[in-house]
Amino acid sequence: MNDKKIGTKCVQAGYTPGNGEPRQIPIIQSTTFKYDTSEDMGKLFDLEASGYFYTRLQNPTNDYVAAKIAALEGGCAAMLTSSGQAANFFALFNICECGSHIVASSSIYGGTFNLIAVTMAKMGIEVTFVSPDASEEELNAAFKDNTRAVFGETIANPALTVLDIDKFAKAAHSHGVPLIVDNTFPTPVNCRPIEWGADIVTHSTTKYMDGHGAGVGGAIVDSGNFDWMAHADKFPGLCQPDDSYHGITYAEKFGKEGAFITKCTAQLMRDFGSIQSPQNAFILNLGLESLHVRMPKHVENGLAVAKFLQSQPGVVKVNYPGLEGDKYYELAKKYLPNGGCGVVSFELAGGRAAAESFMKKLKVFAIETHVADARSCCLNPATSTHRQMTDEQLAAAGIPAGLIRISCGLEDKEDLIADLENALK
Ligand SMILES: *Cc1c(COP(=O)(O)O)cnc(C)c1O
Repeated sequence: MNDKKIGTKCVQAGYTPGNGEPRQIPIIQSTTFKYDTSEDMGKLFDLEASGYFYTRLQNPTNDYVAAKIAALEGGCAAMLTSSGQAANFFALFNICECGSHIVASSSIYGGTFNLIAVTMAKMGIEVTFVSPDASEEELNAAFKDNTRAVFGETIANPALTVLDIDKFAKAAHSHGVPLIVDNTFPTPVNCRPIEWGADIVTHSTTKYMDGHGAGVGGAIVDSGNFDWMAHADKFPGLCQPDDSYHGITYAEKFGKEGAFITKCTAQLMRDFGSIQSPQNAFILNLGLESLHVRMPKHVENGLAVAKFLQSQPGVVKVNYPGLEGDKYYELAKKYLPNGGCGVVSFELAGGRAAAESFMKKLKVFAIETHVADARSCCLNPATSTHRQMTDEQLAAAGIPAGLIRISCGLEDKEDLIADLENALK
């Protein structure tokens, strides 16, 4: 399947039925798996054989879908998690521990920002945030002896900045650490960060991958390119014996291709248990089967709406990387030649009052704390997700009170534009 194009992988990668087996992925709705002897099961507990014993760690349905996502991203191994939050936490915590340091783009999803800046800080993991626009010198200056990972988002939610993956990867590698990229917004249909040097890719599959607002989920993909053993002093968890598995060393036993995901499953999934349910993995797979058909439509609608908004007198500013003149247009042309996603943000003159009355008049766009599914939706951060902040704090965070984020779904673009036009009147 690896020689096939992206659309064929969306439909067929990850699961190949044998003679007389179900064409669709079977939902293995079982917490546990049966063995003939304790020796057979013991081999699984020692990581001497691969197989399933308990769905808190692994389930076949999840593995079919994870294998599809690995194929889409051009990675060598992947796993599903219960949410995007769990995916980003696991990806970082798999190589960081108390005393580690992370370099992260400041332009990332609020939940991930909080995870890194507040919750992981309580675990003794520090972070230095850098601007996504940082120069090479500024980037290099952010690293410390205890830096273990660099993190960013291909297209940031909600700021819609585009990460210079190439530049961030070079800085990470010159300091002997991997680059982790959250690729939720473009999906592998529009960008494959591994091709630009990223080592680990994460997803909130809740967004376009599911695409129907039906199931919360996440995924982690390993490129298999990062040489852990070449930096063994930095990554003791991968390069030194694990006492909880009779002293196996992941990077030795499973190699560059297997170490990261095996450790993440065997340790973090075992201990934290943030597994995706097989039912949700099945629903996610239905979304993946049409991802390559849906993404171009989201992009078409996003671009049409962005162009329309740009022409409106009441609109102060439009952010959409695919829009000529956008600050990230050149980076978007390089990394997202087929477009990015259907999320657009814009600022209304008249601040939060104007935003509130505008949103009340929308009929096709619904007010929701969500983005990236088939149905168009909108949100004013100042009166919802960021409502505890004053206008001054909002301005400092780069979120004007009149900013509205819209997610263009799969409806006809004429109806989306007419809805916005009516509300702008
Ligand atoms: C939504 C989102 C997340 C968090 O994912 P959940 O599935 O909601 O836990 C992480 N990163 C990005 C870019 C997101 O948009």
